[in-house]
This record gives sequence, C-alpha cells and structure tokens, in this order.
Amino acid sequence: MSNLLCRTPVAQRARSGVIPRSFVVFDGSLRNSSTGTTLEKAPSISSSITTARATAKAATAPPAHSVLPTKTLLRSLLVTTISSHRALLVPCLSILSFLTKPRGTLLDVDRNPVIHWFLKKTFYDHFCAGEGESQVRDTIGQIKSTGLRGVILTYARETVQDSSTNQTKFANNKVSQNETDTQSCEYIQAWREGVLKTVDMLGEGDFLAPKLTGAGPKVTEAFSSGQPVPAQMFEALDEICQRVVEKNARLLMDAEQHSFLGGIHNLTLDMMRKYNQNGKAVVYNTYQAYLKSTPSTIAAHMQIADQEGFTFGLKLVRGAYMRSDPRHLIHDTKQDTDNAYNSIVRGVLQQRYQGFGENGRRFPTTDLFLATHNIESAVAAHELHQARLQAGLPTGRVEFGQLMGMADGVSFGLLQLKDQHNVAPGVYKCLTWGSMGECLGYLVRRAAENRDAVSRTMTEHLALKAEVKRRVRAVFW
Ligand SMILES: Cc1cc2nc3c(=O)[nH]c(=O)nc-3n(C[C@H](O)[C@H](O)[C@H](O)COP(=O)(O)OP(=O)(O)OC[C@H]3O[C@@H](n4cnc5c(N)ncnc54)[C@H](O)[C@@H]3O)c2cc1C
Repeated sequence: MSNLLCRTPVAQRARSGVIPRSFVVFDGSLRNSSTGTTLEKAPSISSSITTARATAKAATAPPAHSVLPTKTLLRSLLVTTISSHRALLVPCLSILSFLTKPRGTLLDVDRNPVIHWFLKKTFYDHFCAGEGESQVRDTIGQIKSTGLRGVILTYARETVQDSSTNQTKFANNKVSQNETDTQSCEYIQAWREGVLKTVDMLGEGDFLAPKLTGAGPKVTEAFSSGQPVPAQMFEALDEICQRVVEKNARLLMDAEQHSFLGGIHNLTLDMMRKYNQNGKAVVYNTYQAYLKSTPSTIAAHMQIADQEGFTFGLKLVRGAYMRSDPRHLIHDTKQDTDNAYNSIVRGVLQQRYQGFGENGRRFPTTDLFLATHNIESAVAAHELHQARLQAGLPTGRVEFGQLMGMADGVSFGLLQLKDQHNVAPGVYKCLTWGSMGECLGYLVRRAAENRDAVSRTMTEHLALKAEVKRRVRAVFW
C-alpha cells in the first residue's frame, strides 16, 4: 500500500512532463534511473495521499510550456535549436566571446546597429529583460502573467577577473581610472544609481539580486585583500536594502568568483544582521555547492545567525564559475557537487545540519531559496518540504528560482505541483537587464551553460517543439 501510494505521484508527474521519465520510485525512494542516484526518502503514507491528490491535478494539467506567449515560444525554440546543436552553438559562442573584448567602434555591440539588432532579436531578448526601464517593465509584466510568483531582477554590470592573466575587466568601462582615486568613487556611485533604478522596477514580493563587484576596483580590491569596503559602498548598500524593505521586496546577493566571495559574504552578513530581524529573511547570501568548503561555511554563518538572533537567508546554487575558480577548491566530480547540493537542502529542510537541531542544539530560523535548473534537486526538495508540513514536522520556508530563457519546463512544472490548498510553490524567474555591452558576459555564461547541460537543453528543446506542434494542430484541427 505504502509503496503504491509512493509510486503514484511520481509516475503521474512523469507522464505529465513535470518530472522526466528517467525518474522512478524505487524502494520508497525517488531515484534517477539514468544515474542511479537516490535523492530523498519518499514521504510518509498520509503525506503521500495528499501529494497524490495534488499531483493528480498536475497529471491532468496542460503541458508546462502552454503558458508561454507564442512569440516567446518561437524564440525559445530558435535559441534551443542553436544550443542543442554543437555545430551551431560553438561558432555562436566563439563570436559572443570575441565581442566581449573591446575591439573599436565597428565591433562595439552598443554602437554597431547591425550586430546590435541581430543579437537583440536572438540571444539578448531570450535571456535578458531589456536595455531600459519600459522594456524591463514589459518583460516583468509578461513573466508575472504566466503565474510565476515574481521576478528576481539583476543589473548586469559586473567585474570579471581573467584567471590566466589575473587582470580585472569592468563590463562597463565608461569611467576613467583617475576618477577611482578621488574621494567619492564614481564607480560606486554609478553602480548605486544602476541598482537603485533596478529597485524602482521591483514590485511587492519580488527580489533584487545585486552583483557587488559591479561597484568597481575599490570594492573588488577590498574583497580580494580581506579589507573592509569603502564607507561609500557600505552606505550605498544600506540605502539599497532600505529601499528594498520599503518596497516589501527581498534581496538575494549573488555569489561571484571565489577570490571575492569571503568579502561578499561578510558584507551581506552585515546586512542580514540589520534587516533579518523579524523572523523572516529579507537579505540572503548565496552559497555555491560546488565548493568543497561550502558546508562548513554555511555552518559557520548559521552559528553567527544563531548567536546574534537573526534569520539566516540561504540561497543555494551549484556554482557558475567553474572556468575561473581554482579547480582544486571545487568538487572533483559533478556527482559530488550534486550530493553536496542535495544534502545541504535535506539538512536545512529537516532542520538537522552539522550539529544544529541535534542533541538539544537549536536550529536557527533559516529561509531557503533554491536557484537551480536541476529538476531532480527541485522536486526532491519540494517533496520533502511538503512531506514534513503534512506530518507536522519542523521545516523552513523554501522557494525556487530559474533564469529567464532557461529551464521553463522546470519553472512551470514546479508551478503545477500544488498542495492540498491548491497553492503552488513559490517560483521566480531571474531577469538580467542592462545595455547589450553590459549583458555580453552574462550571455556568454548562459550559452556555455546550455552547451554543458546538453541533455537538459535537448529535453527543453523537445518540449518546446511539442508545444509548437500542439498549437499548430489546435489551429488546423
Ligand atoms: C536563479 C539563479 C540564480 C543564480 N545565481 C548564481 C549566483 O549567484 N552565483 C553563482 O555562482 N551561480 C548562480 N547561478 C548559476 C548556478 O550556480 C549554476 O551554474 C546553474 O544553475 C547550473 O546548475 P544547476 O543547479 O541548475 O544544475 P546542473 O545543471 O545539474 O549542474 C551544473 C553545475 O554542476 C556543477 N558541475 C558541473 N560539472 C562539474 C564537475 N565536473 N565537477 C564539479 N561540479 C560540476 C557546476 O556548478 C555546474 O554549473 C544561478 C542560477 C539560477 C537559476
């Protein structure tokens, strides 16, 4: 009986396209049949009944991509066609990488109208929210109309350090080097203005996701040398947090390259101390599961949150800087990263993590945000969270995020997993905005990520193709 009940929801979701068919329930565990990985023990019988009811609805729900407007659907199909064919993607990736380096006016993506038009109509519009406020607001409106809980908005300006030369490059080089020596740093000022403009575009319940390295050399030098950031930066960030709170929004601080990470984490902890005081996280740090040190970093930050009595905001990613972060700091295999990711999620949702929540030791209030395109991790987390709620066991809040233009099947699939009150999980899309030049580095990372996740890109491509066929059939038959 128990096994049957455990089998039903996953099988139904597999049929509905929410969970890929490679998943099976084996001995009461959710297991990926292609990798053999066991993700999580299945929920208890009573919770399975509830989940079965909820997911029965998912089984009869329309395909996950049916919520996409036709224009977006067709553009997504074009981009995934390129991304899922190496022969098309490799040259596109080379061209994009070539254009990220300054090459004079003729090849400047912001000045050459032909290059600008072509990139805008393809990759830019697929992955980015817009170059100016009105376009960004339109994109946010479209995203929210699909039923997603809200958006995570990022201003694209960032610093990229070339690990081979150790040289630092600013995505937007409009400020002369001398200006960084004056007392009020123009880089910080420009970053502050850009981020505050982003805050203005947020609605209630949305997230801001700032990249701190966008604030320029004084800030990145402070991060890499372990020094405090300039007072101007601290004040700018404090002002940004206040404005976010006034909007009833929240802030997910991005994790960046390892050399800057300690500084980013410490500065964000300062903001958590001040703003996470009412039993709810307003400010979150991002932790990269691919780093071997991450489980102990999380434990150390939990300890601080516990001692100082603030809510711990934990955004968990696998990590996007494999090409630039020192390889020895990163798990040896993808499987190790997956295991680290899933075990952190389990620990936090079960409220037993590295000694916290065990032997009478309190588990600090922790809000979890899972930024992932990995459906195995996302569904396992959702299942576990629901199971614990049904069983009346302690657990934390968990929400999910995917990047715009990627893993729509995961986002809209998660939305179909409603609970017994017909409430969908909190799913957000992360939108990056900025000029074409500012967004190029981001675009290259997305194209590379699609190339590396070939099977997922192909799954997404096939699902989009099926949806296009379904719409064509609906018109003619
Ligand atoms: C909303 C959102 C916000 C994000 N914010 C950040 C951020 O602030 N900072 C950041 O760094 N990233 C961020 N990312 C990107 C994220 O870190 C991942 O690169 C990306 O999401 C792919 O990982 P995945 O969990 O979706 O799953 P998968 O595609 O299953 O995993 C791919 C990831 O596994 C890891 N990996 C791959 N091969 C190996 C290997 N051989 N050995 C060890 N590990 C390996 C890498 O981290 C790779 O990115 C964000 C992603 C999303 C969706």
